[in-house]
Amino acid sequence: MKKEECKNSVANVPAEKPDTWRCRNCGSQAVQQRAWVNVNTGEVESFIDGGRDDYWCEACEQYGYPVRESELNSRAL
Ligand SMILES: [Zn+2]
Repeated sequence: MKKEECKNSVANVPAEKPDTWRCRNCGSQAVQQRAWVNVNTGEVESFIDGGRDDYWCEACEQYGYPVRESELNSRAL
């Protein structure tokens, strides 16, 4: 009996820890960015990254650019 296995399976490969975007003010992950969304499918077509007012933190309710978690951790507080 030949056992078929999916060569492309990545289920057992531990994913590298994603470098999460965080709020630079409070460190929350609840940061949002404005985007263009297809009205029919609801799919995000593209992100709007025009300025700091295009980013919003749900946690501290402030506009501002998010920062990478690694960047936040490397900063001396
Ligand atoms: Zn925040």
